[in-house]
Amino acid sequence: MSTRPRLFVPTDLMAGSPVALDESQSKYLFKVMRLNVGQEVRVFNGRDGEWLARVHEILGKSAGILKVETQLREQGILTDLHLLFAPLKKTRTDFVVEKATELGVEVLQPVMTEYTQSDRVRVDRLEKLTMEAAEQTERLNMPRVLQPLHLIKAIEALPSDRRVYFCDERGDSEEEDWGGDDNRARPMADVLNEHKKGTAAVLVGPEGGFSPQERKMLRKMEGIYPVSLGPRILRAETAAVAALTLFQALCGDWRAAADGSGVDE
Ligand code: SAM
Repeated sequence: MSTRPRLFVPTDLMAGSPVALDESQSKYLFKVMRLNVGQEVRVFNGRDGEWLARVHEILGKSAGILKVETQLREQGILTDLHLLFAPLKKTRTDFVVEKATELGVEVLQPVMTEYTQSDRVRVDRLEKLTMEAAEQTERLNMPRVLQPLHLIKAIEALPSDRRVYFCDERGDSEEEDWGGDDNRARPMADVLNEHKKGTAAVLVGPEGGFSPQERKMLRKMEGIYPVSLGPRILRAETAAVAALTLFQALCGDWRAAADGSGVDE
């Protein structure tokens, strides 16, 4: 793994093109990392792979220009995984967004559910978090953070062939009318092992869980798979990390890396 600093930049990348650095990037490279003219940086923009660039000019402490040289990695194939999550308290939402980026999620969709307590989502702030996480995690792209949608609208907006793994902590209840033999939430690993391939989304609820009405409604929708993450009730952020990890290990790019089939973000 390279120790050269790595930056997300919005500009197109090709050999010889200049990259103007903004204030925070310049501060990071020239004040924190103490780079000088001629030193190497890695840059990516989510479209053109990763490139080697060199510091071309330092314009004071808050501006500078890089010059792009050669491509280090091609953009490659994406793991097509979405996370639908109910916004939590600020630091917990931040945690979910950061970990989902590390775990290779492509789209982050905040969903408003009956028991969601946090009614405000700052998409621009979450985008900044995804950028920082993508830089440090060696991803070649950043997940897209979408505007919040009502739960059912968010699911209806998905293409019909995208499977939704609905993490339902009380989905195996015998007594409740959403549970029983037919509707039972099955262990997520068992369900994933039956699927293996295909596009997917993980759905995780708020601190208060899903309402009985939501549970019943979700079970009536096409392509929704109620799944369990074991006998303990996890915090929402733990559930998100656990479900994404299981998906990547059983169906996603952790397998592809082990198979040598070259999936690379
Ligand atoms: N207040 C709820 C209760 O006591 O039943 C718990 C909600 S839990 C903190 C938040 C979310 O994490 C749930 O809506 C679900 O999506 C997910 N979750 C937590 N534990 C889970 C489990 N064992 N299986 C599946 N999903 C789980």
